[in-house]
Amino acid sequence: EKSLKPGCTEHKSTCCYCGVGCGVSVQKDALGRLLVEGEMGHPVNDGQLCSKGMNLHYTVNDVSDRLHYPLMRYAKNQPRIRVSWESAMQRTAAVFKSLIAQYGPESVAFYASGQCLTEEYYVINKLIKGFIGSNNIDTNSRLCMSSAVVGYKMSLGEDSVPVSYADIDLADVILVAGANPAWCHPILWRRVEAAKARNPDLKIIVSDPRKTQTCAIADVHLQVNPGTDIVLHHAIGRLLIEMDAVDHTFIRDHAEGYEAYRTSVLLRSVEESALICGVSLAKITQAASYIAGAKSYMSMWTMGLNQSAVGVNKNLSLINLNLITGQIGRPGAGPLSLTGQPNAMGGREVGGLSNLLPAHRDLLNPAHRAEVEQFWGVPAGSIAAKPGLSATEMFQALDDGTLKAVWIICTNPLTSMPNVRQVEAGLKKAKFVVVQEISNKAETLEYADVVFPAAAWAEKEGTMTNAERRISHLPKIVNAPGEALPDAEIICRFAQEMGYQGFDFENASAIYSEHAQLTAGTHIDVSGLNYATLTKNRTVQWPYPAGSTGAGTSRLFTNRVFYTPSGKAQIQSVSDENTSEKCSEEFPFILNTGRIRDQWHTMSKTGKVNKLKQHMGESFVEVHPDDAAFLRIQEGSLVEVKNQRGCVRVKAKLSDDLKRGCVFMPMHWGKIAGRDDNRVNNLTSSLVDPKSKEPDFKFAAVSVQAFVKQ
Ligand code: SF4
Repeated sequence: EKSLKPGCTEHKSTCCYCGVGCGVSVQKDALGRLLVEGEMGHPVNDGQLCSKGMNLHYTVNDVSDRLHYPLMRYAKNQPRIRVSWESAMQRTAAVFKSLIAQYGPESVAFYASGQCLTEEYYVINKLIKGFIGSNNIDTNSRLCMSSAVVGYKMSLGEDSVPVSYADIDLADVILVAGANPAWCHPILWRRVEAAKARNPDLKIIVSDPRKTQTCAIADVHLQVNPGTDIVLHHAIGRLLIEMDAVDHTFIRDHAEGYEAYRTSVLLRSVEESALICGVSLAKITQAASYIAGAKSYMSMWTMGLNQSAVGVNKNLSLINLNLITGQIGRPGAGPLSLTGQPNAMGGREVGGLSNLLPAHRDLLNPAHRAEVEQFWGVPAGSIAAKPGLSATEMFQALDDGTLKAVWIICTNPLTSMPNVRQVEAGLKKAKFVVVQEISNKAETLEYADVVFPAAAWAEKEGTMTNAERRISHLPKIVNAPGEALPDAEIICRFAQEMGYQGFDFENASAIYSEHAQLTAGTHIDVSGLNYATLTKNRTVQWPYPAGSTGAGTSRLFTNRVFYTPSGKAQIQSVSDENTSEKCSEEFPFILNTGRIRDQWHTMSKTGKVNKLKQHMGESFVEVHPDDAAFLRIQEGSLVEVKNQRGCVRVKAKLSDDLKRGCVFMPMHWGKIAGRDDNRVNNLTSSLVDPKSKEPDFKFAAVSVQAFVKQ
């Protein structure tokens, strides 16, 4: 038990960084200062926190970088001045009305974040889709999870994670593909480590082009060449077929597409696959044998599969391994996509992407649009049938002038978007930019015509859903500084200024209740849930239909009936081709990007904590020692990484944890840390997966050379 310090009050909340969703116990002293500790007994973390979560209170207690008041400028070349909320709202509404009247509803867009609370997502989505009449709402979840969303939808019928973290304790084989959870989902990984310590027979397979910290407990590391994941998954599938380790009963009764899949994986010999992947046949066979012998097999993956020009196919080829072996809907078995952001799943529950409708309804389905229109009380036909702009399309549309205004909420696209120079160009050309932010250091402020100061974590109330469908309530614990307001309130005030009905919510709880009602009868039904139940039960896993009691639904598809029209899981045959850009003589290296252990995204919060800079305090490029020797690069020397899109200059870190011909850079650094020549997204490409529109962050062709000052 952790004891309450004298004079403090205790509040339960959820860590606002990664999608693991750890419970935190927050102590508030008489001066309003917070201390965050892991919540004992919480089903996700039972008192543990990683380095980021442990230091969360510093980011709230330090308000020195916070925006306190609305700011506005009357012309592009004028300085922004402090204005009242009323003036900022009136001007923003006037500009939006005028742009919509002149250019149509598709001339405006909202770009939000997987860190937004579900209630915030709900009102933004309702505003633009139901009332403005455009589907131009996308979020940085597009950069993170959208390939997994399409993968689940195509194979299981809906974007529904079938398992819980508790299944980790029951699995006897876990395949981790394209992920480094030891650094990026640390508390979830501690659960895997504990399971391994308890049960040495638990086999861990890691497939990753880099030898990361996650490999420390791997029984086999399949160090694939970048972009060859599908070839690897197919080779394992072929071996499972050859070992007769497929579940014929499951395939016959509960799945479709097996014969076509079988034909497609038999096209390539495992020897050829091993050569393409750059992994020995022995290691691939060892991995396949583990899966073949598994009583309960789980797969986990994240950005290495998702952030790819063929991200959906990578997802499908991995999920297929669970389907052909019937390893789904049973204890310890199933595909678990690891969510990057804390509330990416909650955002999708309310339809917070440009191609979704609330409660996983389909935007392209006229009956679904009609249901939502009726519920929102808007005239038939109010919701546009055409999907809106995805994240990358939004900034391209600003650049080409078809999109006139963008409203950026709780995200920093000038560091996080691929090919970021195009984002800069788009924001420069935009007629009107609104930035809703907590930090006065956000790079987007440079382009803002109106700035709305927002409340941060612990300063507002709402809910989030973690990677295992677990919904938790986050209370308001302290007041926001100055005149900063909760994001949902800002959006509702704006909607009312625009003259729209249905945004006069009394509080966040009322927004949640409206969302919950809209889910009734769907597969993600949470109509039995409200703030009272959530605070009483602490967390609940959806679905939670009316009349539910207890902790919700820990496992889906236990009856082997899937959400597809036929009720059967779909084994999808996919091409194993990688369509990333090709390396050339000029740009011979493959650049991979990712997170480091102690930083979160673009460092607007974790960058404030000195302790978190001790692990890795500046950006770098990891280079294989043999490549470094050839290029005459030493450890710590300044290196220029370049391609046709841009250039960075950072110090070299020599490491044989990556393959020759590959380099790695962290995603976190950008102008917010003072410079833009260390920003890896100067180099990443605008290529996206055609189905998920998720960018190809893990594969850009670059040149690498020692930097010589002219
Ligand atoms: Fe927060 Fe994720 Fe760390 Fe848990 S694992 S403390 S949710 S950052």
